[in-house]
Amino acid sequence: MVKNIFLAFGLTLPLIGCVTTTSPVATTKSYIVDSKTYQATGKSERIKTIVLHYTVSDNDRSINTLTTGKVSAHYLILDNDDDKIYNLVPENERAWHAGDGGFAGRTILNDTSIGIEIVNAGIAPEYQNALKDGQLAYHPYDHYLAFDELQIKKVAELVQDITARYDISPKNIIGHSDMAPSRKIDPGAKFPWQQLYKQYGIGAWYDDADKLAFMDINAFATATIPEIKQQFRDYGYQINNSDEWDKASRDVIYAFQLHFRPLNPTGEIDLETYAILKALNKKYANTNDFY
Ligand SMILES: [Zn+2]
Repeated sequence: MVKNIFLAFGLTLPLIGCVTTTSPVATTKSYIVDSKTYQATGKSERIKTIVLHYTVSDNDRSINTLTTGKVSAHYLILDNDDDKIYNLVPENERAWHAGDGGFAGRTILNDTSIGIEIVNAGIAPEYQNALKDGQLAYHPYDHYLAFDELQIKKVAELVQDITARYDISPKNIIGHSDMAPSRKIDPGAKFPWQQLYKQYGIGAWYDDADKLAFMDINAFATATIPEIKQQFRDYGYQINNSDEWDKASRDVIYAFQLHFRPLNPTGEIDLETYAILKALNKKYANTNDFY
């Protein structure tokens, strides 16, 4: 009907004029990508770190928070009695789980890490206000809630799998608190790092003989604060240069103790903490991958 009206009034559509006023879009490329002739040997995986978290809430709220908000993780492990692990973000995309902080020379860990969230309420309800009156600086071991054994088994097997696929260094399997000690305390004192190391070969742990050898009260008494801070830095922790154990520095000690001396996390440097730190640095010296 429309066409008939144009014909009736002797009009034509100006098609040719339109085409000549815009540049033609190229339909063929002037190159091909050859990925067979030359191959580089200097390369490594983009994923360098696994960061473990607890969610501080129950299954339903954890699912809601991690799937609808601006925080996420690659994997979510509920406390249900089943064999499921939920993959919320593909491993080749960034999940928003780490935030500010750093470890082993890397910052912006969302770029280079896999994040695993484990459902656990964290601090038991009766202790959640325990630090409010200032009497206690840090939560002791007893304030934390235990994980289910099935959750730990699933975490362990998942971490084994991810570690093998990306060739992740043992030191770089860390807790959120290790990379953000002044902001985070998860996965807490009851996350069984030692069990994961001994039973599943996951992560870093010191040798007892080394720890005993470093339990030298004289060496500890004469070690300066900058020297001890350098030991933390050598292992991978971000710690400031101040010549005192200020709050930010004690937060690092506490994070270290949550991981490696969980039964007695105090935020204070002591002989055993010092010995464990030295033992770890002896065992894992020069294993940082800065390329
Ligand atoms: Zn976390």
